[in-house]
Amino acid sequence: MAAQVDLDKCKMCGGVTQPRCIEACPDDAIRVQDDRIVVTEFLCEDCNECGSVCPDSAITVPLEKVTF
Ligand code: SF4
Ligand code: SF4
Repeated sequence: MAAQVDLDKCKMCGGVTQPRCIEACPDDAIRVQDDRIVVTEFLCEDCNECGSVCPDSAITVPLEKVTF
């Protein structure tokens, strides 16, 4: 599992250079590609730090998967 991004909800807070989710991710699992947020599944440890800072509730880890 990994954080899931709802691209319809994501408004690219912070612009393409400093999205909050990328700043929050301890594992560098999130990047911007083609002006969209992409999560690298094998790097993501399901901590939900990204979900807790996203102002648009656009990135989330399914609750039963959150590791801490
Ligand atoms: S759940 Fe944690 S590790 Fe995964 S993308 Fe979000 S902040 Fe990064
Ligand atoms: S924190 Fe949320 S709104 Fe901001 S770039 Fe990440 S997914 Fe999009």
